[in-house]
Amino acid sequence: MGSKVVIVGGTHGNELSGIQLLKQWQAAPEALARPGLSVSTLFANPSAHQANRRYLEVDLNRQFEPALLGDPALGNYEQSRAKVINQQIGPKGDSQTDLVIDLHNTTSNMGPTLILVDTTPWDIQLAAFVKSRMPEAVILVEDAKPPQQWGYLCTVGKRGVMVEVGPQSQSVLRHDILEQMETMTSLILDFTSLEVQGELPELPTSVLAYRFLDTRYLPMDEQGTPLAMVHKNLEQNDFAPLNPGDPMFQYFDGTVGYFEGDRPLYPHFINEAAYYDSHAAFSLAEEVTLDVPTA
Ligand SMILES: [Zn+2]
Repeated sequence: MGSKVVIVGGTHGNELSGIQLLKQWQAAPEALARPGLSVSTLFANPSAHQANRRYLEVDLNRQFEPALLGDPALGNYEQSRAKVINQQIGPKGDSQTDLVIDLHNTTSNMGPTLILVDTTPWDIQLAAFVKSRMPEAVILVEDAKPPQQWGYLCTVGKRGVMVEVGPQSQSVLRHDILEQMETMTSLILDFTSLEVQGELPELPTSVLAYRFLDTRYLPMDEQGTPLAMVHKNLEQNDFAPLNPGDPMFQYFDGTVGYFEGDRPLYPHFINEAAYYDSHAAFSLAEEVTLDVPTA
């Protein structure tokens, strides 16, 4: 049987690349076949997709914290779905699945981004492998807390990663974005297969990555109404440096809010449509160089 890999699409119902790729792979499963791997697919939130929405009641990709999975009182659609998925391909903390690859789109111009939730030697070698074969790939590390504590779906596997590709508007398909997602996913499978067989090729000694630090929200008045929008200089410039003193927000009264930091940081998820309800403007990361352990 080999190492068990589950590729998840449609965790967010209006992110169409992963859902389309699942259809293609279900019709031609040989595209996923790799020596040493047993690969299957999972359509995480078909009801949200049918409704052409990100989710019906709550964001499915935030429901996989241990406390939420363990609370029987939480029974709305996505909360129930999370418990079912946890039984199907987890359970989290004692998983039957060696690797979960969760496919997402963003409306932000993040390009093909590989999101890691851990920095084990395996994760860093994967990043180096993908980046060396797909130079346009961006590596984003979200290790602000241990993987077990994130609410992300991919954390139900022994290992988990997210493939986040944009810009793509909600509920549409873009050819270039689909191709990038397919390429990155295929490289992750290639790496996993080679690693399982002990046949990893020589990798670069280091890999450039971004480490998530925090999320910046739009400034708001006391009623919770935004007072500003994201400044035009940031628009479409995900992962370009934001330097201290650079414009960050354009207030509706005509004034500008500037970035006050002591070093350049790297905005991403800039003006992400899905985060409008939370008034998140963008996330900030620092640039890091990850040393790649020898295989
Ligand atoms: Zn998503």
